[in-house]
Amino acid sequence: MTHLSGFRSVRKLWTNIPYFELGPATSPVTFFLTVTRNQHRWFSVKTTSPANSKTMNLLVAKTRTLKKEDDNNRQVSSDHYFAAGAAKKRSYLNSSPEQQRDHAMPSVRGTIELPTTPLTSEAWDQLQAEFNGKGSFEDRVISQMLHNHSSIDVAKSLLAWVAAKNNGIVGYNLLVKYLYLCVSHKETSEVIDVYEILKAKYKCLESGANSILIRGLMHSDRWREALLLLEDIKKVMIPSKKNYDDCIRGALFHQDVSLAWSLYQELIGHNLTPLLETLKAFFDFGKNINDDHYSNKLLDILAYLRNNQLYPGEALAHSIKTWFESIPGKQWKGQFTTVQKSGHCSSCGRALESIHLSSEEYEFLKEKILRDVIDGGDQYKKTTPQELKRFENFVNSCPPFDIVIDGLNVAKMFPKSRESQALLSVVSQLAQQSLRLLVLGRKHMLRPSSRWKKEEMEQVRKQAYCFFADNISKDDPFLLYATLNSGNHCKFITQDLMRDHKACLPDAHTQRLFFKWQQGHQLAIMKCSQRSKLTFQHTLSYDTVVQTTGDSWHIPYDEDQVQRSSYEVPTKWLCLQRKTQAPALC
Ligand SMILES: [Zn+2]
Repeated sequence: MTHLSGFRSVRKLWTNIPYFELGPATSPVTFFLTVTRNQHRWFSVKTTSPANSKTMNLLVAKTRTLKKEDDNNRQVSSDHYFAAGAAKKRSYLNSSPEQQRDHAMPSVRGTIELPTTPLTSEAWDQLQAEFNGKGSFEDRVISQMLHNHSSIDVAKSLLAWVAAKNNGIVGYNLLVKYLYLCVSHKETSEVIDVYEILKAKYKCLESGANSILIRGLMHSDRWREALLLLEDIKKVMIPSKKNYDDCIRGALFHQDVSLAWSLYQELIGHNLTPLLETLKAFFDFGKNINDDHYSNKLLDILAYLRNNQLYPGEALAHSIKTWFESIPGKQWKGQFTTVQKSGHCSSCGRALESIHLSSEEYEFLKEKILRDVIDGGDQYKKTTPQELKRFENFVNSCPPFDIVIDGLNVAKMFPKSRESQALLSVVSQLAQQSLRLLVLGRKHMLRPSSRWKKEEMEQVRKQAYCFFADNISKDDPFLLYATLNSGNHCKFITQDLMRDHKACLPDAHTQRLFFKWQQGHQLAIMKCSQRSKLTFQHTLSYDTVVQTTGDSWHIPYDEDQVQRSSYEVPTKWLCLQRKTQAPALC
């Protein structure tokens, strides 16, 4: 019986080795493996196909996804259409009970009962005999060990067993996953041992293994070697934001501040969005140093968040608060708070920046939308030039509208009533408020049918301007055109989130303007019953963005428990105020 539980490190498992320098880099290198009771094994690393790094990345992605799904428990603290988590909630409420049940119970098929202590070879043999899943048993086991964060010793007993039955050969894939497990346990000496093995075998590792090694080495004394691995990655690709995160955090951990900032610059220079953890590391480090240059760099990070419409998570928000409060002599005080519907901070009472676009921003956005979304290169996919011309002429012959309605979308909002009846109900209620309406529809809506009653459509046409496009056209470009063309006061009604259009826009700046405009102009119907009075979710009057007045900061942030989609904004804020000095008494 081979008993393996006594091992402390891989160095004992794969001891030193006269064979290290033998063989060219492509042939398997064999390592000497000492096992207790003086048994000897040959352990080696097998060359691998490029698919392995893919598997690894998938694995990493998978563990992240699982983590996200765990975070399902969330609360929505605000009720506007773009509130964080609102879309998820809407889709959940609309799904069937079966779907909800599926959602609650992830499948457990194909999992293996993992051992909690190191196993003997016989025990591994037995476990393998019971395994009836697809693919390689050891791959499945090591993957599941990663997912379950199993102990190093258990993983090591698996590797020793594999080596024993394969003439000392352990596949690259298995070894890299083992490395990953060591890194996740922060077993630095173990990481360094595997690093030596890999370095001896390969002149150059693929980026997946390099990334894991960087993470493992950054907190060791040999952290500068991790920077060389980063250089290796740069030879073939742009390093990931996680690579930079590891290196920056390692540099800060070893007090090399200028290296940390230059890596940060490089990261931004590649147009990568830094991880929030990276930014947090800078703020955390900042509370121990009193240096204006460093402080200004942190304020630059806040400006970066603003310009890119990014939001800190809870952890970063806390770090930002702590850093502000730690600045000597400035007397900053932070509060976690919310913003009232009126746009005033609940903590300090200040008004936040308005959601409304300036006239320059408005003109700029209008120009871009008209050119890129509606009249862009692929206009034939959405409409024909003839129809576009007909629509332009129509819009220009009408006075500006107050509300533009996506007729088909609104008609389908009330599943229990006839489409034309639902549309008429919405139009009549808005018309009573003396609003100038435009209803956009399709030609088929005018053909009398059980869903579209002729009399009701005539009523709609009496109360609103109407434009009926060809049945093949997409209506939302028309919706955007008519709304933007009517001016900044004009709003539109659709439940469509128009992500496609946002994606069509040429750059991040224009996309942000579009999203800001959308938040301020899109009306979403809340009451889904046709008889009740029409109510809309309130539109935001303030802009959810990092902002400052010099002696105050307001920073929206994401709560850990709320999963926010890209078209939603956070509802929680960090309010920072400088306590003004009380006037001296005379
Ligand atoms: Zn405030």
